[in-house]
Amino acid sequence: MLKIRNLNVHYGGISAVKGISLDVPEKSIVTLIGANGAGKSTTLRSIVGLVKASEGEINFLGENITDMETTEIVTKGITLVPEGRRVFDNLSVLENLKIGAYLQKEGIDENIKMVYDLFPRLRERSWQFAGTLSGGEQQMLAVGRALMSKPKLIMMDEPSLGLAPLIVNGIFDIIKEINKQGTTILLIEQNANKALKIADMGYVLETGTITIEGPGKELLMDQRIKDAYLGTS
Ligand code: ATP
Repeated sequence: MLKIRNLNVHYGGISAVKGISLDVPEKSIVTLIGANGAGKSTTLRSIVGLVKASEGEINFLGENITDMETTEIVTKGITLVPEGRRVFDNLSVLENLKIGAYLQKEGIDENIKMVYDLFPRLRERSWQFAGTLSGGEQQMLAVGRALMSKPKLIMMDEPSLGLAPLIVNGIFDIIKEINKQGTTILLIEQNANKALKIADMGYVLETGTITIEGPGKELLMDQRIKDAYLGTS
């Protein structure tokens, strides 16, 4: 579904992503793990056209999207849930969801129902200002807002960051459920253990380069990954 070949991204003179290639098959969960500053967010930002590739190609459903504008890419079916959630604090839960549907012409009410069925907590808090939601609820809202555009591919940048362990489990359950309902997922996570457990494929990014790749369950057993990312030996 998504194919990246030899992607290079620079910020001025700094090379953040150095020739990476990766594949996200349709209906799969793929995870990208790596230390802070490895280039994970930059990779996602370049897929949706928020930063431009200096070299390489990004292909989505057989089409070269490398130089497309973000709005066009979103219309093709890719949505990014950015790191840090970024909900609109002074708008209600419902208004935040409607903003997520800004490119939709129809089916908005059904999508709201679909999101509320997935996150009953959001339905209960429909009129509450997003800024007063708990961290976990804000993350649910950020994911729900992304789902409002009915993406084929949803990309999530560290959805578990800063959340309590119980809430993190809930977020991973939701990721699995969204995938089961047919949406392809590209997930960035610091929580390598949980991410690899649910991922069909995993990639390890180190200073802008992919150093290890393979099925999630195999990477969980990989000694290099255990040492560097799983905190076990
Ligand atoms: P984290 O887990 O900390 O979010 P990451 O793997 O997502 O890290 P990126 O945010 O992609 O890493 O950053 C990769 C490199 O690019 C880092 O060295 C970072 O300082 C640099 N970088 C990111 N954004 C910018 C920017 N807007 N301008 C200049 N340099 C940037």
